[in-house]
Amino acid sequence: MRFFTIKQLIIAALFCLAAIAAAVFVLLDIKKREEFKDNPPQSQKTETIDTSAQIETSPEPRREIIGFSVQKREIESYIFGAGQNLLVFIGGIHGGYEWNSVLLAYEFIDYFQTNPKLIPENLSIAVIPALNPDGLFKITGKAGRFAAGDVAAGTNEAGRFNANKVDLNRNFDCNWQVKGVWRQKEVSAGTAAFSEPESAAIRDYILRNKPAAIVFWHSQSNAVYGSMCNTEMPAETRAILNAYAKASGYPAKDTFDQYQVSGDATDWLASIGVPAITVELKTHENIEWPQNLAGVQSLLEYYAKK
Ligand SMILES: [Zn+2]
Repeated sequence: MRFFTIKQLIIAALFCLAAIAAAVFVLLDIKKREEFKDNPPQSQKTETIDTSAQIETSPEPRREIIGFSVQKREIESYIFGAGQNLLVFIGGIHGGYEWNSVLLAYEFIDYFQTNPKLIPENLSIAVIPALNPDGLFKITGKAGRFAAGDVAAGTNEAGRFNANKVDLNRNFDCNWQVKGVWRQKEVSAGTAAFSEPESAAIRDYILRNKPAAIVFWHSQSNAVYGSMCNTEMPAETRAILNAYAKASGYPAKDTFDQYQVSGDATDWLASIGVPAITVELKTHENIEWPQNLAGVQSLLEYYAKK
């Protein structure tokens, strides 16, 4: 009987191992293909998910890019709930000058993501955290999420405007004028109403989605203002102005009366029949969470009955 040499035995063992490894690989691959078929990975799914079946199984908000800034930064919207009536909350139209309004919006995105059941069945919520991402970038040095610690020291006034140095809240189509006023200063209101990509993006978003109501977060006048365009304030606007003011504790005011404002976003909304309020936080630094949570809850209750 012929004995195998050690070399032959090692080669045979290696062949066996290779055969076992190949078999395991084939089995694992078949299993992976089956799993993929049943449950494709996240990256294979579309980013804006729009069927109610998927909303129920996923607590993630749908993220939509509604447009781009002058410097091509994304303007994002995060959508929660599947009801017919849409409430829209917008932070940061005044960019880095009012960066706390952006942090407040991000806090609400996290809150609705953790507590999706708090949204009444007949409602959807869209949060647009930063309508002026270029102005925000000037002050935070970041696109998207940032922390209070990223904010440059100083008054941050330069971050109020977009990259064309336009005050976006003077660029809407109600009493638009080429020169706007901010405090005692003259500011650019753009070359025409909606000349800026940021204001055009939110105009198109609103005309496309026809929201039930809109809230703009600003800082720091410590008040809630209604909106109107050369008419009396509509009853529903007054109702939500009073609801938010009462719940939050910010004083209710009909209109901003410290100086003449032209081309205001909420006044344009009044002109097309969309109830809208401006919420001015009390400070430039804090998100004033309990006040604004109570204010937003008051609007959810108001619209849950509609
Ligand atoms: Zn502002």
